Amino acid sequence: MSDLLLNDKRAWIEISYKNLENNIREIKRVISPNSDIMAIVKANAYGHGMIQISKMLNKIGINSFAVATLSEGIKLRENNIKGDILILGYTGIKDIEKVIEYDLTQTIVDFEYAEKISKLNIDTKLKAHIKINTGMNRIGESYKNIDNIIKMYRINNIQITGIYTHLCAAESKDEKDVEFTSEQISKYDECIQKIRKLGINPGKTHIQNSYGILNYPKCNYDYVRPGIIMYGAYCDDVCNITRAKVNIKPVLSLKAQITAIKDISKGESVSYDRTFLADRDIKIATVSIGYADGYPRNLSGKGAKVLVNGKLADIIGKICMDQLMIDVTDIPKIKQGDTVTLIGEEKEIAVEQIARKAETITNEIFSRLGDRLERIEV
Ligand SMILES: *Cc1c(COP(=O)(O)O)cnc(C)c1O
Repeated sequence: MSDLLLNDKRAWIEISYKNLENNIREIKRVISPNSDIMAIVKANAYGHGMIQISKMLNKIGINSFAVATLSEGIKLRENNIKGDILILGYTGIKDIEKVIEYDLTQTIVDFEYAEKISKLNIDTKLKAHIKINTGMNRIGESYKNIDNIIKMYRINNIQITGIYTHLCAAESKDEKDVEFTSEQISKYDECIQKIRKLGINPGKTHIQNSYGILNYPKCNYDYVRPGIIMYGAYCDDVCNITRAKVNIKPVLSLKAQITAIKDISKGESVSYDRTFLADRDIKIATVSIGYADGYPRNLSGKGAKVLVNGKLADIIGKICMDQLMIDVTDIPKIKQGDTVTLIGEEKEIAVEQIARKAETITNEIFSRLGDRLERIEV
């Protein structure tokens, strides 16, 4: 990838096909040989660019996707993404026909929802996966209401092609959480057994999100549902020790360019609110990225670093909406148009570090990366 092309951009994301391919290979290495990958590409593929990532995944041989919303599913179809697409969230009853029109699969969020759909006058059956609530208490019919779950298989205008649940503490090593997760898995298994006993084919089964894969690798269901680890990140810098070991690599780098360089004298301040005061003469550079692009404002004054010309530089002063400033005193040969890396493979600018300093998880850092950023395949 030529720098000439990239330097014309204000701020951008580079996505690595090679690293995505590596992560898929690593996930396949640890899951049951009977399981396929359902790639989670919701929230613009965790900020990576949903269309680019899904096209890459199609090329890698992935043919099952999950999104959060109907409009995300439609966008995938409009861009010719091949395979099954499951909507993980609620779709309003009025829009169910669109789910069918775009050949998407809807999550049945509970029995009440299934009953509402059953009253619709639709020509083609709605493809759907039943969600079972085994303890997360977000969406899903309770595992206790097995009669209602069975009834869903008998609704005329719904074709149940799968059934799943979601783990809510799979990343935890805490004994109580491990026990809770094992119970979630057994509650799900019991439902599936009861369905099979009645001679009903439950459809595709799936439970494991990223940490379900990493900490409960012995599970053996039709699909696994990796999100964050497919993008080559752990959810934070603590949850990187897992039962199954994978050598994942970050798919995304966040970059921007230097737009101005200036000398600042001891005692001068930089940026809003004058929180940064130079305690010596320094050289600073302005970088064309800000919190409106998803680089968190609360990293201001937290010692966050960026990489420029192979060296680390400190972010100084308050991060602005579209720009931020860095201390480049010790960086030789710096010039307007130079590229700055804000998130990347290097340890100090790894997304896990950014997330820790911003007091959140990597999933949030990624998914808030904005539309102004161009996504470029490298
Ligand atoms: C977002 C999501 C996932 C992926 O979660 P990760 O922890 O990022 O792997 C899997 N399943 C469901 C239902 C989700 O909502």
